[in-house]
Amino acid sequence: MSGRTGRRRQTAVAATALVVALAGCSGQAVGGDGASVVATTTVLGDVARRVADCGGLDVTTLMPIGADPHGYAPSAAELSTLVRADLVVANGLGLEESLASALDSARQDGATVLEVAPLLDPIPMVDAHGDTGEADAHDHGALDPHVWLDVARMAEAARLIGAELAAVTGDDALVACGDRVADDLLATDAEVREILAAVPPESRLLITDHAAFGYFARTYDFEVLGVVVPGGSTLAEPSSAELAGLAQIIRDTGVRAIFANKADTTALVDALAAEVGQVEVVELYVGTLGPEGSGAEDYATMMLTNARLIAAALSE
Ligand SMILES: [Zn+2]
Repeated sequence: MSGRTGRRRQTAVAATALVVALAGCSGQAVGGDGASVVATTTVLGDVARRVADCGGLDVTTLMPIGADPHGYAPSAAELSTLVRADLVVANGLGLEESLASALDSARQDGATVLEVAPLLDPIPMVDAHGDTGEADAHDHGALDPHVWLDVARMAEAARLIGAELAAVTGDDALVACGDRVADDLLATDAEVREILAAVPPESRLLITDHAAFGYFARTYDFEVLGVVVPGGSTLAEPSSAELAGLAQIIRDTGVRAIFANKADTTALVDALAAEVGQVEVVELYVGTLGPEGSGAEDYATMMLTNARLIAAALSE
């Protein structure tokens, strides 16, 4: 993993030509107030902020609330923030599809890029009907990026972020900050399990808008019956044969809910539900936190809200 500390070179990023060199600076010491920490997704931004807060650091979150991380394209100003960071906390495994070259630029410019998903015991992408995603395997990698839907994995991510912040700043107290946030998240994980315990074994079946629930299903004991959008991203489109197959699965199994994604409400999900009938479309917080008042303002409440919505939809 990337553990190097370093002074970043203040150079223009030729590849994008979007960033100009800061005049007169030949190097910037990291650490203390000067450490610039950027997280890509709102979920990682929240977890990193909790760790950093405890050590008196700020975190800038790149993506806005409501952005779909698969499709999010940063502005020039956001790219500039990213490549100038000392530490970038990213998900990795192909989640941030439009940020790949910017993350490379940040690395080349001396930033430490901590991609958490590859370090969290990633599992293979499982697509509809248990097949491994094939068409998009090249683009998204064969491993599933949606690690944050397992809260215990994110507890481990908090530890990793604390250790990396300590390495970048030289402030060892940040390691304990990471551990503290990890312990809080493990308590959240236990709460999620308690909420989901209401779902009877025979109802632990998920149909979702895209293949985001592999980790969730594995850790909380559900089965993913099918997904509407294939390939592990929200950006692909299903064939009519795939949709017909999914409609058949819904009829055969009698599942009563399709779980959609607030950040990317797809008309396909509604169309499928309308065609099959007798299924409820339940929107979950999948790729992004929700706005104030949504019950998903931070990562822990987002997962508790998801658990309640799933439990309500699948329990009688
Ligand atoms: Zn996704």
